[in-house]
Amino acid sequence: MTVTVRWAPSPTGRIHPGNARPALLNWYFARRHGGRYILRMDDTDQARSTREFADGIEEDLAWLGIEPDQLVRQSERTALYDAARDRLIADGRLYPCYETEEELDRKRARARLLGKPPIYDRAALNLSDADRARLESEGRRPHWRFKLDGRPVQFDDLIKGPQTVNTSSMSDPVLIREDGTYLYTLPSVVDDIDLGITHVIRGEDHTSNTGTQIEIFEALGGTVPTFAHHNLLLDGNGEPFSKRAGSQSIAGFRDLGYEPMAVAIMSSLTGTSLPVEPYETLDEIALKLDFSAISHSSARFDTAELDSLNARILHSLPYEAVRDRLSALGLEGEALWLLLRENLARFGDITEWSKLVTGPVTPVIADEDRDFLSLAKALLPPEPWDDTTWSHWTEALKSSTGRKGRALFMPLRLAITGRHDGPELKSLLPLVGRKACLDRLP
Ligand code: GLU
Repeated sequence: MTVTVRWAPSPTGRIHPGNARPALLNWYFARRHGGRYILRMDDTDQARSTREFADGIEEDLAWLGIEPDQLVRQSERTALYDAARDRLIADGRLYPCYETEEELDRKRARARLLGKPPIYDRAALNLSDADRARLESEGRRPHWRFKLDGRPVQFDDLIKGPQTVNTSSMSDPVLIREDGTYLYTLPSVVDDIDLGITHVIRGEDHTSNTGTQIEIFEALGGTVPTFAHHNLLLDGNGEPFSKRAGSQSIAGFRDLGYEPMAVAIMSSLTGTSLPVEPYETLDEIALKLDFSAISHSSARFDTAELDSLNARILHSLPYEAVRDRLSALGLEGEALWLLLRENLARFGDITEWSKLVTGPVTPVIADEDRDFLSLAKALLPPEPWDDTTWSHWTEALKSSTGRKGRALFMPLRLAITGRHDGPELKSLLPLVGRKACLDRLP
């Protein structure tokens, strides 16, 4: 049986690292097992889902490096859900209820007063045909509840180990709203059956849903998939990420110039025993990440760690990996990249750093160094220049002025680059060239 997984976001906003986590964990699992990966848009909530958000999710997923084998939209699969609905009704597992929200609130409050759990009392099961006809003639429309078996539902979670969800402590879940639209619970099961999903990998906030959904799988005669519930990824404050927080969205990180690999690694490996460090490809992570490496407690996304990982990734990227991105910025040359990459926090910083080579540079020249720098100008070696030029030049200056160490190097650096820090002068000099050096020295 081919391993088949799905990542099932609701297109009600742009995705964030908390969503990218199951997107990636499903991807790793599929890659590791030579399986299929389905992107399923959970867009049955027509009021909150938009095509724009769905397109954004596809874009973000591609940016992270994931190419789904198949895309399905729940909004296009209503006929399947209707068939499942009819079957559950015929089998007495789905029943119409007419209580309003206020009535349900009152029932819950009463149960609490009596010290009972606020579970739906199934009063609607006692309605006669005449009762229902009367309620409907008053203009009430039913919502539909799934009649739970009310038993300990057991499953072996690939991450959390053996689990028991006791559905007798749960209200019969509403599967269909008053307006006839489906909540998430039923379509998800119908699709998992129809698409042959073998493994459901999702956040641990869904663990109790799994109890309900296993009962629905069984009621529909479907094969129950294997479940894996991963720890949740929270933001730096320990709060769930919000779909409204734009700068913390995957697109937001992209717009800030982070490497997709850095965002992918942070989103998936934080809260696992695998180190958060540069990996070349997602496949490399897929091979290394076993579910036993995933921690059982929630994890926090630390932007300082993202910054440092992003820099480490840039500092080791080979020229071939960035050639096109450099030429889009009007830059080229392996020597330039190898010289400047170690200074980058974000890729876009290279535009500023490349000015050390291409100019303009505003030389910084202290009065007391002016004579020294004029002499340095006179002693500039003839071209061609290579990475021995710097030592020839500074040796000559040292023997004619007696300056050494910082007093020798810093005035040269300040004049040639206009700054105190930056790339090695030995490698920078041949890229700057003799003519530009002459211009920068007084
Ligand atoms: N749309 C659901 C969510 O985003 C999917 C959960 C699942 O994977 O079943 O939480």
